[in-house]
Amino acid sequence: MNLRLLTASLISLILIIILSITFLSEDVSVHSTKESPSIKKAIELILNIQSARRGEHLDYLESVVSQHARLKANKSETFYIEFLKGYIASANNQFDLAEKHFNHAQQYIYPALPSHVLSRFYYERSYIEIEQDQYERSKLSYQNAENLFNSNQDYSRAFISISLGRTYDLAHVEQGSLLSIQQAQKTLEFAQKIKFPEMENVYFILGLSYWNNNQTILGIDFKLKALNIYIEKKQYSDIVYTLTDIGIDYLFLKNYDEAIRQLTQALEYQNKNNNTEPDEAYYIVYKLYSAYLQINDMENAKYYLDEAARLLRIQKDSIVKENFQTNQLLLEAEYLSITGKAKEALMLLTQANERHKNGLSNSFYHFDVTLYNTYGKVYNHLGLYDDSIYHHTLAKKEIQQRKLFYLEDETYFYLYDAYQKQKDYQKAALYLAKSHAVKTKQLNDNNQAQTQFLLHSFDNKKKENRILQLERNASKIMFFSGFLLCILIVIAAFARILMNKNKEINALNLKLHDLSLTDGLTAVPNRRALELHLLENKQDLTVRSVMMIDIDYFKKYNDTYGHKKGDEALIAVAKALKESCKENDFLTRFGGEEFIIVMKNTNKAESIQMAEKIQACITSLCIPHESSDVSSFITLSIGITTYSVNKDDKANNEKAIIEADKALYYSKNKGRNQSNHFYDI
Ligand code: GH3
Ligand code: MG
Ligand code: MG
Repeated sequence: MNLRLLTASLISLILIIILSITFLSEDVSVHSTKESPSIKKAIELILNIQSARRGEHLDYLESVVSQHARLKANKSETFYIEFLKGYIASANNQFDLAEKHFNHAQQYIYPALPSHVLSRFYYERSYIEIEQDQYERSKLSYQNAENLFNSNQDYSRAFISISLGRTYDLAHVEQGSLLSIQQAQKTLEFAQKIKFPEMENVYFILGLSYWNNNQTILGIDFKLKALNIYIEKKQYSDIVYTLTDIGIDYLFLKNYDEAIRQLTQALEYQNKNNNTEPDEAYYIVYKLYSAYLQINDMENAKYYLDEAARLLRIQKDSIVKENFQTNQLLLEAEYLSITGKAKEALMLLTQANERHKNGLSNSFYHFDVTLYNTYGKVYNHLGLYDDSIYHHTLAKKEIQQRKLFYLEDETYFYLYDAYQKQKDYQKAALYLAKSHAVKTKQLNDNNQAQTQFLLHSFDNKKKENRILQLERNASKIMFFSGFLLCILIVIAAFARILMNKNKEINALNLKLHDLSLTDGLTAVPNRRALELHLLENKQDLTVRSVMMIDIDYFKKYNDTYGHKKGDEALIAVAKALKESCKENDFLTRFGGEEFIIVMKNTNKAESIQMAEKIQACITSLCIPHESSDVSSFITLSIGITTYSVNKDDKANNEKAIIEADKALYYSKNKGRNQSNHFYDI
């Protein structure tokens, strides 16, 4: 029976183990499938791409996706591939397609997905939703991204990355501009709080955001802050990127000298670093050409135009090269038209336009607007003002539709110029006014931004000061508390010392009190003590006897044996007297060689018995006294009296002592070495 039970238990145990293993292994297959290294690398790349540079590394990301198209992906890989596809679509401005992929990816979110990856996913979603004008949904998605960090503090770097991204994204839409600034401030505060080691990246994105919010001075200010750190850290590619960016900002602000300064520096850094990337260099050179053209420095403009052509020729990437080619046609057309060859210019523009229609200008932001305006300018040179106005108006429409505010005032100005030459002074005046209004608004905005910036900094300074003051106060309070504590400790210690001293003093006083009532030689109470004793201790007291004792011929004793021996004899007598006393008897050294014993509730007979007892005791001591006239040993003479105790004690006591003294005197006269009661004499 027992054996069967054991077998059954064993079988069920084995079953449980098998079931658990099956269950667990299934779990593992869902959650911890390793995605392929290339996917991992692609995701890592995305996590590190700043939102402002979303277009970067797209070729590589696309190659990873196509590499996996043929393979059968598992669950977690499907998430990553869809995420990648969505990201690529979004970077190519195909937001509907991006949304589709993101929706697909969302179905494959699995529990073990690292929170910073998921957060980036939600963040990228929030970006496409902004681009689709879905602000509420975008807000929710971004909230999802942020919440994942609230529960996980380890990824502050990734958090700052998405927070900066959000700032940048919001800055690009008109509705987001205020939110963007709030987000920017939040990011900056957080980064400063955690002492983020790459503040330069934070500053740069903030610069971009403020710039996009039309707060150009503040924008450049932050970018310059970033630049200084990049220079400090010798991050050459970032230095070149930032200098180029700031140069372009100045170009838009029509501060051409400053633009040329920044762009020239960018070029110098690029050469210094010996990391000549022709595409980057082309971009800088092309902007330098534009800047020199604006200040009518045709010599330098020509130099950079040729330099751009040279860089174009050595370009290796064919797509990039095609794009640059389209742009180069535009640059040359502009140059030709200014140098009086407008017809040739028009031919180049026709070529550029063809290429643009075929998508060979994609890498240039708002290329179409530049193309329209260049057309307009060339027609202007040709005296074809209607055509000029027509093209500038096309540019104007695009600008208004896409809110390219920084291109607005120059386009209005071109329109003003063309209308004026057409002698349509009414329209000319209108566009002059518009151009002027935009410029004034920009200046005002800048002023306002600058003021806001100053106010904000001032507020921050105030807050910092307040905090500093509070901290100082706190330390003051701490100091004073410490100081007070020290004083309290000292007082307590002092009080303790005083208490101890007090105790000592009390003890000393007590001792002094005892001493004042005690005879120094014989250690029996003294005369003062007798006075006190006679006044106190009246309880249960009816009758008292007083006995006065005197050593016979003690002067002679001293003379014979010396004072020292005399003292010893006194001590011995006192000791014998003390030993003879009963509990209630009170012995006193009354003075010299005289003693008094006060006996409580002792009548005459008892007092006489006591005297006899004392005499016998002294006799037994046998202290030799050879010069005594009555014995060869020390002897005593005693006088006694007895009285009832009631009122007027003091007088009674004094009277009793006198009577005892009289009785003693009687004993002396009767021959010494004897006792007599006052009543018997
Ligand atoms: P009498 O029998 O009449 O009492 O004679 P007496 O010598 O004892 O009496 P008197 O009063 O003439 O002398 C007392 C002496 O006791 C005087 C003094 O030398 C001595 N004496 C008193 N006090 C002390 C003391 O404290 N030490 C010593 N050594 N002697 C003391
Ligand atoms: Mg005497
Ligand atoms: Mg005497």
